[in-house]
Amino acid sequence: MLGRNLVSFDRRQLLSGAATLAAGGLIGGSAAIAKAPMLGTLAPAFYRFKLGTMEATVISDGPLNFPDAGKIFLRAPDADIRKLLADELLPTDAVRMEQNILVLNTGDKLVMFDTGLYSMKPNPSLPSGRILKSLGEAGIKPEDIDAIVLTHPHIDHAGGIMSEDGKTRLFPNAQIYTTEADFNFWQNEKLIGTPAESSRNTVLKNIVPNKDRLVMVKDGQEIIPGIQAIASNGHTVGHTSYMISSGGKSLCFTGDIAHHSILLRRPKMAITFDTDGDMASASRIRMCDMLSSQKIPALIFHLPWPGIGNIVKDGEGFRFVPVPLHPV
Ligand SMILES: [Zn+2]
Repeated sequence: MLGRNLVSFDRRQLLSGAATLAAGGLIGGSAAIAKAPMLGTLAPAFYRFKLGTMEATVISDGPLNFPDAGKIFLRAPDADIRKLLADELLPTDAVRMEQNILVLNTGDKLVMFDTGLYSMKPNPSLPSGRILKSLGEAGIKPEDIDAIVLTHPHIDHAGGIMSEDGKTRLFPNAQIYTTEADFNFWQNEKLIGTPAESSRNTVLKNIVPNKDRLVMVKDGQEIIPGIQAIASNGHTVGHTSYMISSGGKSLCFTGDIAHHSILLRRPKMAITFDTDGDMASASRIRMCDMLSSQKIPALIFHLPWPGIGNIVKDGEGFRFVPVPLHPV
């Protein structure tokens, strides 16, 4: 198409810069003419780096999109929520969140933190649910995963443990780490008919069939050498973050202590998915105080890809400062 349009201009027209492809509907005005076709392909959805002696790979399950910011952020007037988003030059209506999964090779074990939505996505046409594709792009085989460590069992974190039909274990050699509090809470029949029902279904489909290989995590416990659990309850009753340490370096896989940068800026706000908004906010502030004062980088599940950055104290809240990525 592009080539056919190009040949319709003579050499003098092209050199004068006056030629346009407007007639072909490709480019308006006197834009430069590309000689190569546009590719439309994206980079594979993984990012790899070293953490001390460990190898870390962030993979994406794809984005979550929410059409109305006013319906998900709580405890601030609607106008304030829109202004916070506008201040970050983001759309003030639709909100996009990433799903940044961490796969950590400790040298001894291959550990995956959270799994994304996978088959639990409410609409099959969504671009999320790509965990297996992303793992493949990153060269990681599902059967090599030794441990799946869950921050909490919400639909977007625990949806990728079992196959679409719920019959096959996607990671047949992995033990699954969760908390007793979350495991019990999310099976409660009282959740039926509430917005939390989808996460109950997630637990029934993905965790209950794995009772024989569950490990119940306790606050402060070193669950695997170099990986310590830190209770950060509130978003769910058993919500847990994980501090990873190797060779003098640390990284905190925080889970959902903040779903968006505006919750860091206004940490007393809440999100509609919190089981206990007060406790979630207190945990957010406590974790951010700790990470910012100790200058420990965080990997935040829902922040812009790949979600790795430092948390810096700023006025009444915090700022997220992404760490520079190294493509080579
Ligand atoms: Zn989440």
